[in-house]
Amino acid sequence: MKSDIEIAQEAKLLPIKQIAEGIGLTEDDIEPYGKYKAKISLDVYRRMQAQNKPDGKLILVTAISPTPAGEGKSTTTVGLGQALGRKLQGTGKTSMIALREPSLGPSFGMKGGAAGGGYSQVVPMEDINLHFTGDFHAITAAHNLLAALIDNHIHQGNPQRFDVRRIAWNRVLDVNDRALRQVVVGLGGVANGIPRESGFDITVASEVMAVLCLAADEADLKNRLRKIIVGYNVDKAPITVADLGAEGSMTVLLKDAIKPNLVQTLEHTPALVHGGPFANIAHGCNSVIATKMALKLADYVVTEAGFGADLGAEKFFHIKCRQAGLNPSAVVVVATVRALKMHGGVEKTDLATPNFEAVTRGLDNLSKHVENVQMFNMPVVVAVNKFPTDTPEEMAVISNWCAQYGIPVALSEVFTDGGAGGLELAEKVLDVVENRPGGLMFLYNLEDSIETKIDTIVREIYGGAGVQYAPKALTTLKKLQEMGLTHLPVCMAKTQYSFSDNPNLRGRPEGFTITIRELRISAGAGFVVAVTGEIMTMPGLPKQPAALSIDLLEDGKITGLF
Ligand code: ADP
Repeated sequence: MKSDIEIAQEAKLLPIKQIAEGIGLTEDDIEPYGKYKAKISLDVYRRMQAQNKPDGKLILVTAISPTPAGEGKSTTTVGLGQALGRKLQGTGKTSMIALREPSLGPSFGMKGGAAGGGYSQVVPMEDINLHFTGDFHAITAAHNLLAALIDNHIHQGNPQRFDVRRIAWNRVLDVNDRALRQVVVGLGGVANGIPRESGFDITVASEVMAVLCLAADEADLKNRLRKIIVGYNVDKAPITVADLGAEGSMTVLLKDAIKPNLVQTLEHTPALVHGGPFANIAHGCNSVIATKMALKLADYVVTEAGFGADLGAEKFFHIKCRQAGLNPSAVVVVATVRALKMHGGVEKTDLATPNFEAVTRGLDNLSKHVENVQMFNMPVVVAVNKFPTDTPEEMAVISNWCAQYGIPVALSEVFTDGGAGGLELAEKVLDVVENRPGGLMFLYNLEDSIETKIDTIVREIYGGAGVQYAPKALTTLKKLQEMGLTHLPVCMAKTQYSFSDNPNLRGRPEGFTITIRELRISAGAGFVVAVTGEIMTMPGLPKQPAALSIDLLEDGKITGLF
């Protein structure tokens, strides 16, 4: 089979104007960025809202605890969107996709696309994986402007009385660069400011990214930026963006980045690709604005949340849906034979060898994810993402298990066959969406204490026995009470490879405790990050970075980008 980039380069794209027309948008509604990308103004959303245009149905794609290669959530999201498009042809109904924007850092680091795969991709793939419409650069600029304003404030006399040892605002860059994790700024004498320790994070880890992705509109964006805590003064009281007066200029830098980006899939299904917060220290899904706009533009919207369902779906429900008032209609849990084998005890290097027994043992992991989604009162459909090495016997293990527990299941071949490989999945999803019982239920209330929220997630979602707090986390718990911020939801930062905080505990572990090492306050985004392990906010490059294979040929073709 051809590589993702070869398939994408052979695709015949439709002009973006035509894609827009398909979802009822005129030329005036879109701001084209070249021939195949466009931004959509928030006025379009406001107009549809004023007209009381009804919302479509929202379908979340999530997954079991993955292998490091990923289990195909993005691929399934795009493939299901395409399959729904095929199913709905001639009915007057439409489907759309809402996905995150990929980050440049990992694209040039580890091999691995973030725009789907095989015959289920969003295109133009190179643009989406590179500078796209400049959103991440705008976020980088807004973030770093704030950093510069902080250092300038201190240099100019420090009227806010910043404690330079307690500044909570790094600089960011969309490049994997481990050498920048810890730096000293302000060196070189009086003219260059006050020397202090600082560091760089990758752009997707910026709170500005999380803020942009949770904002309802421009006014809400500015209001959230105001609340960001940038550091503490000598009395340990928080200093915010509002104290520095930086929210106006930051909002100006983000005025276009806040508009969703319209592109298409290989089968011309319209897709909004917008925002890309980390799935550990942030909530890990595309922007609220894009999801809400897609729901006004199409009858069925397929979206995705990062990592496994214990992290991605939990945060999608408790943070994004609760805040934005979204009520999804169905959840697709992507399972793969290879990941179940891993949960059944097989080493990473042996995942291609048939092993019926290991797949059977690995079902434990799938069963816990399915139960978790059902706890939110959400109907589940299991999608078995078929890889070339899977045997029919291994795949039957999953479908038999689903049949036994009455869970709709479909084999998904969207990677090799595009939408045609997802028709059964689309059918099962449509069936569940139309016959779904009740609405989304939350597992904790916002009024609960931070400890209760974390305890609920650990016991009910992870299946753990309890929670321990490191001294640093206990200090922040006290601070949260003093600051009146205990009503915020919790954003868990945990390994995606296990329900526990130990990536090597596969399957469905029990009796473990989770250690909260640290709590970070993202007051602008509106959540408290509970850090359970070593969380890397500036990745490094691997020994053989993908960057060394990426090239531009004489005919303008890009090679090596996956
Ligand atoms: P996730 O969103 O869960 O991280 P992706 O959809 O990005 O996963 O897929 C991860 C990688 O696996 C991508 O490189 C993709 O092209 C590849 N992939 C996904 N599904 C399949 C499949 N069925 N067969 C072969 N490769 C696949």
